[in-house]
Order: sequence, then C-alpha cells, then structure tokens
Amino acid sequence: MSAQLTPQTDPRHALLFQPLRIGPVTAPNRFYQVPHCTGIADRAPDDVAAMREMKAMGGWGVVCTENIEISADADISPYPALRFSSDSDIPRQARMADLVHRHGALVGAELAHMGLYSANRTSRLASIGPSSRLLIEAVEPVQARAMDKADIRALRQDHRAAALRAKAAGFDIVYVYASHNLSIASHFLARRFNDRGDEYGGSLENRARLLRELLEDTQEAVGDRCAVALRFAVEEFLGPDGLTHDGEGRDVVELLKDLPDLWDVNLSDWSNDSQTSRFSSEGYQESYVGFVRKITGKPVVGVGRFTSPDTMADQIRRGILDLIGAARPSIADPFLPRKIAEGRSDDIRECIGCNICLSCENSFVPIRCTQNPTMMEEGRKLWHPEVMRPRSAEDSVLIIGGGPAGLEAAMSLGRRGYDVTLAEAEASLGGRVSREALLPGLSAWGRVRDYRLGQLAKMANVSLYPASRMESADILGFGAGRVVFATGAHWRREPVGRGGRAALLLDGPILTPDDILSGHRPVGNVLVHDTEGGYIGGLIAEALRTAGADVTFSTPALSHSGFLALTLEQSRALSRLIALGVNLIAAHDLAGFQSGCANLHSTLGAARVDIPANHLVLVADRIPEDRLARDLLSMPNRLQASGILSVDRIGDCYAPGLIAHAVYAGHQLAQSF
Ligand code: ADP
Ligand code: SF4
Repeated sequence: MSAQLTPQTDPRHALLFQPLRIGPVTAPNRFYQVPHCTGIADRAPDDVAAMREMKAMGGWGVVCTENIEISADADISPYPALRFSSDSDIPRQARMADLVHRHGALVGAELAHMGLYSANRTSRLASIGPSSRLLIEAVEPVQARAMDKADIRALRQDHRAAALRAKAAGFDIVYVYASHNLSIASHFLARRFNDRGDEYGGSLENRARLLRELLEDTQEAVGDRCAVALRFAVEEFLGPDGLTHDGEGRDVVELLKDLPDLWDVNLSDWSNDSQTSRFSSEGYQESYVGFVRKITGKPVVGVGRFTSPDTMADQIRRGILDLIGAARPSIADPFLPRKIAEGRSDDIRECIGCNICLSCENSFVPIRCTQNPTMMEEGRKLWHPEVMRPRSAEDSVLIIGGGPAGLEAAMSLGRRGYDVTLAEAEASLGGRVSREALLPGLSAWGRVRDYRLGQLAKMANVSLYPASRMESADILGFGAGRVVFATGAHWRREPVGRGGRAALLLDGPILTPDDILSGHRPVGNVLVHDTEGGYIGGLIAEALRTAGADVTFSTPALSHSGFLALTLEQSRALSRLIALGVNLIAAHDLAGFQSGCANLHSTLGAARVDIPANHLVLVADRIPEDRLARDLLSMPNRLQASGILSVDRIGDCYAPGLIAHAVYAGHQLAQSF
C-alpha cells in the first residue's frame, strides 16, 4: 500500500500522509512522482513498468509516466517515448497502470505533442507549430510548417483520443503538457514562436486558446473519472521573450486558474527545471512557483529536488505546495515515502543532484542513478532497491578500498549477511567522493559516502578499518575467502587523453587533478588543459581561479566540458567560468610547455597560441590502481594455499568511470556472490 501514517511517523511529518482530493480521484498521500523520462520508454515497456511499480511499492501516492506521444506527428525519435496514438497502445500502458494500482497509488499519464521539438524523424511527417520556425532540438536545418485551422482541429482530436485511451488503460490522472519549451501548447503561448494573425495569435488570451481548448477537451472526454492535470512552466528565464512568473506566466495561471483539477508547476527549459546541486539547492523553485497556490483553488504540485521531510512538510504547512513532486529524489530512493512514514528518515538515499540520470536520457539509454544502482534493473535483473537475497555461502569477504565501489560492495554484501572487512589506506572513508565533494558546488555528492556509512554503522557483520593500507602479504595472511579490490585510479601526469595523442616538449611543473583534489593551489598563471571533457576540468579551473590564480582553460574539443551538455549543465558551468574571468580556449591542443609558457595549436588549422603559464594542470585519463590485484592474480598457488577462493576488481581500479559506474560495480559484485 502507499505510504500511510504509522505510530513511528514523526508527528512533524504527519501532514505528508493526509489524502488529497484531485478532481474525481483521491491521492492517498502527498508524495507525487511527477512525469520523468526513462531513456527507454516503449523500447522496454516491461522494464519501465517494473520501475514505476517499485515507486508505488515504496509509497509514492501518485506515479506518473514519461511523455506519451499522441500522434505520428508528435514523434521525438531518437528520444524514446511512450505512445497513445493508436488503440493498440492501450494494453502496453495498461500494464504499468495495473502494476502501480496494485499498491494503492494513483497513476498519471503525461500526454504530449512536442510541436517544434518533434522532428518526426521516424514518421517522416512534416513537423508542425504555431508558425513556421526552425525546429528547436534538431541540428538539421529543418522547419515546421504553420498549422492551419484544420491542423488545430486534428491536434485536438488526437489529444482527445489519447485521453480516452489513457482512461481506457486505467489511468487516474491525464495530463495536458505545457512546459519545458517541449510542448506545442507552450509554443503557441510563446510570442517568439507564434506570429499568427488569427484567434490563436496576438493577445495572451489568443495564444492561450489552444491550451484552454486542450484542457476543456480533456475534461469533457475523461473528466468524469480522471483528474485533468496541467503541467505548466511559470518561468522561462527569457525576460520579455518568454513567460515570466511575474508577467505572462502568472497571467496564464490567472486565465486558467480553476480549469485543470491539478496544477503541476515548474520552470522552463529542462535545464532550468532539473538544475543540479552544483547550481541550486533543495526547494530552488519556490520563489518562482510559490504564487500559483494563491491564485488557484485547485491542488498544486511542484518540484525542487526535495529529500528532506522537514522541507517537504514545511512546503505544505506554508501553503506553497499541496503535493511534493519528485522525479530525481524518487529515482535515488523509490522508498523515500515509506521511510518517512516509518520514522526512518535517516535511511533515505538522498539524490545528490548530479544529473547522471539525465545524461542517460540524453544518450537514449536506460537511466542509471549514482545513488541507486538498482534503477532500471528492477525488471530485467529483479534488483530491489532495499532488499537483497540472503547469502548463499559462509565465505568472509575482504574489500580493499573505501571509495564508492568498496562502500557499496560492503553495504550490499553486509545486507546479504556476509562477514565483511573493509580496509582503506586513508584515514577517512569515501575515496574520490570525499575528494570531489570539496570542489566548488559539489558538497551534496558527499551523500554517496554518508548514506553508505550510515547504513554500515548499523551492521554488526561489517567492520571498517580506515588508515589500513594493505599489501599482498597482509591480504594473503588475512584469512578471507574472497578478496575484492576497489582501489581506485589516479590521474595520468602525461598528456594522453581521448584519442590517445601525446604532446611534445613538456618541461615545467605539471599537476594532475589528484594534486588539486588534495588541496594544492598553484598561483600565478595556470593552464588547465582538458582532454577528458568531463566535469573535473572546469571545476578545477573554477577552484583555482577562485583561489586567485589567472587561469586559462583549454581543450582540443570544439566546446569545453562536452559531457555537461548531457547533464544540462554546460551553459551554466561555462558562464560561471567566464564570469569568474577564466580564459576559455576551445579547439586547441597542447603542443608544448616550458615553465612560463604553454603552446597551443589549433585543431582546425595551423594557428598557434602561446599562453603565459607557470603551472600546467593536465586533465587527461586515469590509470587504474591495480598493481596489488595483478600481483595476487599472478600467484594462484599462494592464493589457494591462503584459502582465497576468488579475487575481484571493481570500480575505477578495473575501469575508471563515473561515480555512478563505481557504485553500480560494487552492487553488481554483491549481487553476484
Ligand atoms: P572507486 O571509485 O572505484 O571506489 P576510489 O578512488 O574512490 O575508487 O577509492 C579507492 C580507495 O582505495 C581510495 O580511498 C584509496 O585510498 C584506497 N586504496 C588504494 N589502495 C589501497 C590499499 N593498498 N589498501 C587500502 N586501501 C587502498
Ligand atoms: Fe539524483 Fe544523480 Fe541519481 Fe539523478 S543520478 S537521481 S541526480 S543521484
């Protein structure tokens, strides 16, 4: 059942468990999983349904889908989506609705036509929009055609038919979508896309006409049994070119205030809605969306990376929101509501706001989560975020290394009942997480360590030994049946990066990210040269600039920190560097460095640039710390004599990657025993 008040619930959080009427349906509590993508959608509907069911089991009172295309000209391929464009889609989506219902939760369907965002690459239909405009997402030079009245009628019919299919599939809440700059209704609303001369263009009332009609059509079609929700972005951060929370965004809420049964409000575009912890803190949307509830008499749900039950209860108590919306916090911890209900808030696996989940969606692969390695493995691997099968043998396990891979392995093996010893060379646990969390804006990343240490502290069968560097003899003499290396990696001091090219002539103080992460702060002129293209290069440039150095940040790539485009942070991150006065040079590789000067050559031609540089920080690739593991694996007889049955390597010492990869590797190993 959805999470209910229990005798253990902290009384301060009791109001989170009050049911709430939304139109003709009633949410059993205030925990609302707003629509979020899965990176796979209809390519693996059973996996998606299993993941949504897990949220319902974890106590979310409402669980929604991702966007559901209503017609062939709403096609956003290669981005995955669900579909309600034909009656044959009903059984597939009904399966998810049934699974969610089993646990007492309501289920919501986000119907969407993405207008100028729908490039129709699969359906090959011409794209449509309020006016003829270049498509928003497409790199191809392709424009939408301006819709005529017959097109508008057809769109309304498609939306209505999709709403009826959602009802037939058993959905309780049916959405009209007007958010993120990803909806045809938003495109009609926006002056910048709409220069129509008819009753759908011009005044705000006219530009809002299509949205009003879609809401009325949906109410009329399914409102007897389903609540009609409007997902609406009140602020676009475009000033007069867009909707603002104190201008036309507010006016739209005034215009339509009691038409939907539920206002699901947020910010546009997606990068503003799903901000990372580096750029915003919990509850960051309040100052924009807070007005909505004062205008409408209908319930309001909003998001803000809520993980603290105190903050959630406070939002409701102060009349900001009626329902606590969550996408990422529900990915990081599908059992968050149940933990609050049971007075176990300390057990919440808090989202760290890293947007690795979004990076997967933007790469068209199933979402993975840094904190929750079971995300999207509920169906295909039958992994549960809270429960693991008991151990299958008596073996004891020695884990060497207390970074994210080692900590996750220790916790998950501990959950299974194994006797686990974890030895860490450093005086404190956390490995790279502890070091990276000291970079500007990344303190929330420490939650990866803190959650696991909190869980481990409750396990009598797991012993942690910080300040314990292990060598081969210690391991052979330890007496564990299984040995797991989670010894991490270190950054290379030579300029070899993506593509594997080495620079010439290097003669001067060369630093690596490890030096900076250990607190070294070179002064004077510093060149940070990034061939990796992840988040570290820019953060090091920021840290050094903030500490007073004159920093140039260069990359051979066409743009800096390319990975951050996938986490929706690239613009913010680069704007911050520019504001701090960091000199950005893209499309230049390192040709040489002598103390005092670095030479960069253009990757697009013969041009060269000389940069004053007393220090060079190379952000290249990482070298796995696998010496000990390789030593041991090279002596099978001694392993056998010491009673060691298996030697495994996990995380960065096996294949350097993201923290998410290390956590996943630790979990996968624990599942495999
Ligand atoms: P991962 O991301 O794979 O978990 P980290 O670099 O975060 O890797 O963590 C690896 C940890 O292993 C570091 O904290 C490091 O101090 C520790 N470590 C490396 N070699 C040894 C060793 N020989 N004995 C104990 N701990 C070690
Ligand atoms: Fe949160 Fe990061 Fe997990 Fe996404 S990947 S849910 S941002 S912890």
